Amino acid sequence: MPRHVLITGGSRGIGRALVKAFAAQGDLTAFTYLRSEEAAASLRAETGALPYRCDSRSEEEVIKACKKILSLFHTLDALVINAGTSLYETLEGTSLPQWQDQLNVHLTGAYLCTRELLPALREKKGAVVYISSVWGQSGGSNEAAYSAAKAGLIGLMKAMAKEAAPLVRFNCVAPGIIDTEMLNHFSQEEKEGLSSLVPLERLGTPEDVAKAALFLCSDNASYITGQTLAVNGGMYI
Ligand code: NDP
Repeated sequence: MPRHVLITGGSRGIGRALVKAFAAQGDLTAFTYLRSEEAAASLRAETGALPYRCDSRSEEEVIKACKKILSLFHTLDALVINAGTSLYETLEGTSLPQWQDQLNVHLTGAYLCTRELLPALREKKGAVVYISSVWGQSGGSNEAAYSAAKAGLIGLMKAMAKEAAPLVRFNCVAPGIIDTEMLNHFSQEEKEGLSSLVPLERLGTPEDVAKAALFLCSDNASYITGQTLAVNGGMYI
């Protein structure tokens, strides 16, 4: 029986790899995106996965998208909360709107989607994975808002692992430095410098992260809940 899966922020980067990985194993997959219309359309053509334009920060849009997806799928086995943006800024340089935007896209987005989809996930004894970050575990200098939002996701995941047990499992994946467009503000030389911080001596790939999420959503992880799986090449142990 194919499973039904939703991935937020699936148009690019890690989310795109997630959509491809779930679709490749035969899961009926839906994904959200915000701005990358063409990338979303090409992913649909490539995988058959269904795109929905939905801003994770908007309660109205999340409710609408979740209703649409459930009206089509009628059921949900797995949810991966991945949509996000980064903010490289000192705390004093971070404006209140920037601070709130980081909390909204990462944390409020996860809350809204989880809230809307939990009844369906309970029915299927489903699994939820939040894509956090090494900075949510260790704290990143000049990334206070991002680190706080990503640490918040780990707290939300742990609370939900208890609150939704025994029916729904909740886990996080905490990627290290993954080579996506999110790193576009670094030059090639800077990226090579970043690799030298990683014991496994390379940046991560979106596929590295997708494999971990696939595992946590699978029956192979049926006794794992409330955990954060680091996919960081050993940069934070
Ligand atoms: P990208 O910038 O490559 O992709 C981000 C994705 O999120 C896009 O599909 C984008 O959609 C979507 N998105 C952004 N804002 C919203 C929004 N408000 N509503 C809906 N979708 C949105 O980032 P990555 O793939 O690198 O990052 C994915 C996740 O992984 C993020 O949560 C990030 O914090 C986390 N992460 C990334 C790391 C890295 O080193 N790259 C390390 C640790 C964690 P669109 O293009 O359509 O707007």
